[in-house]
Amino acid sequence: MRPTIARVALPVPLDKQFDYLIPGHLFPIIGGRVSVPFGRQTLVGIVTALVQESEFPREQLKALKAVLDTQPVWPDKLYHLLQWCSQFYQHPLGETLANALPGALRKGKAADFASSKEWLITAAGRDQLMQGFGRAIKQAKVMNLVASGPVPHQVMLDEEVSSTTLNTLQDKGWIEVSEQRPQFRPWPAEPEAAVDKPKLNSEQAIAIATVNHQPAFGCYLLQGVTGSGKTEVYLNLIKPVLAQGRQALVLVPEIGLTPQTINRFRKRFNVPVEVIHSGLNETERLNAWLAARDKVAGIVIGTRSALLTPFADLGIIIVDEEHDSSYKQQDSLRYHARDVAVMRANLEQIPIVLGSATPALETLHNALSGKYHHLHLTQRAGTARPTTNRVLDVKGLYLESGLSAPLIAEMRRHLSQGNQVLLFLNRRGFSPALMCHECGWIADCQRCDAYYTYHQYSNEIRCHHCGSQRPVIHQCQGCGSTHLVTVGVGTEQLEAQLGELFPDFKTIRIDRDSTRRKGSLESALQAIRNNEYQILIGTQMLAKGHHFPDVTLVALLDVDGSLYSSDFRASERLAQLFIQVAGRAGRASKPGEVVLQTHHPEHTLLQALLNKDYHHFAETALAERKLAQLPPYTFLTLFRAEGNQSQQVEDFLRQVRQTLEAHPLSEQGCLVLGPTPAPLAKRAGKFRWQLLLQAPSRSVMQKLLASARPAIQMLPLATKVRWTLDIEPQDLS
Ligand code: ADP
Ligand code: ZN
Ligand code: ZN
Repeated sequence: MRPTIARVALPVPLDKQFDYLIPGHLFPIIGGRVSVPFGRQTLVGIVTALVQESEFPREQLKALKAVLDTQPVWPDKLYHLLQWCSQFYQHPLGETLANALPGALRKGKAADFASSKEWLITAAGRDQLMQGFGRAIKQAKVMNLVASGPVPHQVMLDEEVSSTTLNTLQDKGWIEVSEQRPQFRPWPAEPEAAVDKPKLNSEQAIAIATVNHQPAFGCYLLQGVTGSGKTEVYLNLIKPVLAQGRQALVLVPEIGLTPQTINRFRKRFNVPVEVIHSGLNETERLNAWLAARDKVAGIVIGTRSALLTPFADLGIIIVDEEHDSSYKQQDSLRYHARDVAVMRANLEQIPIVLGSATPALETLHNALSGKYHHLHLTQRAGTARPTTNRVLDVKGLYLESGLSAPLIAEMRRHLSQGNQVLLFLNRRGFSPALMCHECGWIADCQRCDAYYTYHQYSNEIRCHHCGSQRPVIHQCQGCGSTHLVTVGVGTEQLEAQLGELFPDFKTIRIDRDSTRRKGSLESALQAIRNNEYQILIGTQMLAKGHHFPDVTLVALLDVDGSLYSSDFRASERLAQLFIQVAGRAGRASKPGEVVLQTHHPEHTLLQALLNKDYHHFAETALAERKLAQLPPYTFLTLFRAEGNQSQQVEDFLRQVRQTLEAHPLSEQGCLVLGPTPAPLAKRAGKFRWQLLLQAPSRSVMQKLLASARPAIQMLPLATKVRWTLDIEPQDLS
């Protein structure tokens, strides 16, 4: 019998699906999109079932408006993976599915290659270029853009060119638009290009053979420092996959998606390589998505969201820098792309390789316990040599904008030898606080439980938590004194200080403020490689993915906070950062040196890291985690709640706690901690509290949440406060 009702998952924050009547002329399919009336809107959803009966009377049901697909949006296994995500992360199915769709498909556009629009200059336009544009500044800007070649429409949008300007110029006949559908070449029989390849060392060969030995599912941790040849292993693993006509997915952290990385894959293989990241416009994203689904692309390289790309025939997954925190999504569906990638490889029955110099403790634990295969690359390939590392005890030393005298002397030595120095300080702005010297008052954000950061360049104070900003103040709001002083050091201040300390050398600062403009990071990195700058100041941004062979000294300036942080992952992050920063420096002819300024040189974790290596650090840290019953030995869920009234938020979480504790499953070794105020107790005017559930296993946690959540949703306060659930949170703030 022909089904009469379609069950539809809609992008709404509700844990249910909606039934719609199927009009006679429409033929929906499971896993395909439909558009439906919902309240006064029209929404696009996914059909999850076709049935005869609804629990609601037929008269109450509305009818489908349109059927948008004649084949399912996702291949079967990916569709199952998304359903699993929805369950595991306790997130509504409709939102989970919508989250995995390219924007264009979410809006109901056809799942078909979209054309991309480009703007071109005409002959008349060229003539006009000679004559200039008088006071028409906006028009001149567009004409200068198109003068050097076709400009994608997206670039016009990025440059904030209005459609009025474009239309005017088009009407004048100076520019024209061309719409092109992407054209793809067929896949060549020999996927590898004829390029020079290094001869593999024995560790690389063993790693490759181990993965190839077992073509079905297997999870491999490839542990090797930067420059040890991990990427070379990836390339060698991808080659046979392509030769079989199958595809490869390579995930990289947000910061690692550099043109160099992409080019390495493009140069090596004759197959189309698609790149997927958050900066794509809708058309580009849809085209890349379709290229993978329809087997036009052989390789997809992308950041977190690329994990949910459909493939015609996926043969291998690679997750580079698997420990990177950008793999965890911090809003909506809070999934961890590395963990879901392992699940995907399992469903697809293909190998997955997790690469890192500094594996996450969770991953390392899985490798040490035999759940994952552990592969090592211990030699730096090519010419780089390991760095020498040491701590610099700064107890009692005068710090000049965060720099101790011994460090300054060390810098001078390296600089005078014609080398570069990298200073790492993970705090942007001039200073993290502005204080009254008379009464101690500190300028604080009215909307958050936080101080304003002073930004000298823009002459503002800014809250890094809610984004509010105001002109810098010159008078204390407590006592009226005008004697305000800065407290603490940010990258701007360091930059200014270095200009005075080392007037003969040029300093460049690389942080989110200095690289806001598109392309500015790339040109800064190029200038560094050209040795236009000798002193480099960087935040987190500079720690990853870039190699600077002329840097021979790297210093970490202010890391003590990480040793005694309330977030139990802070020391792991510091260790990872340390190893990564060290990886930026040196080559055989110029060995690198890493200095860590600290007030706690005796700290066990620091000692393990410096005197031994990451592995020893990790073992020490794992032992501590085991004692403290923290992940990976237990499994956490963080309930976050916020609202206008602190008491209400706290009460809500107290009730959540009671609900969890009343549940029979919680007796199987679960522990509920809190509610406690969040580390940032107030943000953007909202009071924030949190509650932590600790479970002995993933399955107990899953079962408990699945059955307690409906009860939590029924709590009267559940609709009065904003609350979220973070399964296996990476960030406890
Ligand atoms: P990683 O990804 O671990 O940072 P790469 O694969 O990028 O390391 O290798 C670092 C450099 O060493 C690259 O220039 C690469 O071409 C080179 N390389 C890799 N493997 C070898 C090898 N077996 N012999 C010589 N050079 C190698
Ligand atoms: Zn604020
Ligand atoms: Zn004062």
